[in-house]
Amino acid sequence: MATMTEKETIKTHTTHYIDGAFVESHGREVMDIINPTNGQLIARVTLADEEDARRAIAAAKRAFASFGRTTKEERAKILRRLHEVVSAHIDDLTAAMVEEYGGTIAFSRLLMEGAANVFLSAEKALQELPLTRSWGKTTVTLEPVGVAGLITPWNANSFFLSAKLASAVAAGCTTVIKPSELSPLQTRVWLECLQEAELPNGLCNVVAGRGDVVGAELVRNPDVAKISFTGSVAVGQTIMRDGAATMKRVTLELGGKSPNILLDDADLDQAIPTALAIAFMNSGQACVAGTRLLVPRTRLDEVKRAILDAIRAFPAGDPADPKTAVGPMVSQKQYERVQSYIRKGIEEGAEVLVGGEGHPKGLEAGYFVKPTVFVNVKNEMTIAREEIFGPVLCIITYENDEDAIRIANDTTYGLHAYVSGTNVQRARRVASRLLAGRVAINGMLDDQQAPFGGFKYSGVGREFGTFGIEAFLEPRAILES
Ligand code: NAD
Repeated sequence: MATMTEKETIKTHTTHYIDGAFVESHGREVMDIINPTNGQLIARVTLADEEDARRAIAAAKRAFASFGRTTKEERAKILRRLHEVVSAHIDDLTAAMVEEYGGTIAFSRLLMEGAANVFLSAEKALQELPLTRSWGKTTVTLEPVGVAGLITPWNANSFFLSAKLASAVAAGCTTVIKPSELSPLQTRVWLECLQEAELPNGLCNVVAGRGDVVGAELVRNPDVAKISFTGSVAVGQTIMRDGAATMKRVTLELGGKSPNILLDDADLDQAIPTALAIAFMNSGQACVAGTRLLVPRTRLDEVKRAILDAIRAFPAGDPADPKTAVGPMVSQKQYERVQSYIRKGIEEGAEVLVGGEGHPKGLEAGYFVKPTVFVNVKNEMTIAREEIFGPVLCIITYENDEDAIRIANDTTYGLHAYVSGTNVQRARRVASRLLAGRVAINGMLDDQQAPFGGFKYSGVGREFGTFGIEAFLEPRAILES
């Protein structure tokens, strides 16, 4: 039972955002939100149910009748306005991400800056994307697909809310958003941004509830034309299967087990700290984390020494401390999941170079795990095949470039890949052989105009830039005699 002091500090949210207003939840289930840094209760939120979702879909459908016919300039104006309001709340969004998710303050801020900038990136892409093409007596226009359901995961909730909304608005779609149920505090700050933006009613409706309740209603409802989903492979498969009944268009951004190929001419002083940053970004809870470091056999000893040296710059700790590189896992469940993979790695014969099972010393109260590096990993081992979603790096050795490419591509995933080496021509040649939606050479790189998405089980379709807007459009050709 909550004490008086707890009662005063625990936040309570009982509303959803439908048709331009905060409305009381029809759903009655209440969920406790725990601060992962110290295990304490910080919020109680009332979850939406199917009826809340249906009300939101109806509002989006009404709004689509006019928003679907807006001009590029009208949409661009809304995107600029969204950029302004989200930019003004970067501090609040960052604080909420640190508190409820345990994101390190440096990473959380970077992500929230991205959440603001993505609206301007979408505006730029919209200006560059021809929405009408014609030849002879044929005219093709790219039409918004209709009401879009946007579903986000907990590891970068506010960023994905912004990125998906930006592309949908640019395309002229109205939206019903189902944020992660583990991210209500970030979502609340983000909703306050929406209110300040004074969007047309019904353009953006937000109903936070369970995936198998609210998410499933979006997938099933015939008034939703498109689902843009970021999350796990298993849920992505459910959405694709269940969405088929109403012929849903889908964009699925799913998991990864990204290879990072260290070529034999790589400069380890630069490449090893980068490899650790790529593996441990967002405390390892990142779909694009480079979790398989492919190392030439001849340089393994050097690499091990470089890792033992560089890992000192990646301490686990309080996410609000700017020196912390790895925060807690989002939940007890995620903590246990990561622990079970570390145990499995040891059982299957991999060797712990650094880290291992249990909490780091002094961090027993939260869901912290030790940043862990395994050596003697075979690409067939469970820890090299399955997405762990925690700060666990697997080092796998290879014989030559062909062997490295083979191992890199020997995965069911294909979201991201990384290559480092001093001969850039050679690094490019290797990059061009990798089956991944994005390949970064010599760094942890991003470009909000570049397509983002996966080959194979990493997903279907692309987000960002013109590619991301096209995912919300249908071509219509008019042919005249
Ligand atoms: P998840 O799949 O469990 O949940 C994602 C979202 O889907 C949540 O909002 C959840 O409530 C909802 N959902 C659950 N069941 C649903 C259903 N039946 N119908 C509709 N929606 C449903 O994923 P998670 O645990 O929140 O996030 C971690 C996963 O997300 C990891 O696998 C990670 O790789 C992936 N991810 C991918 C990307 C990418 O861009 N490729 C980015 C971040 C995270």
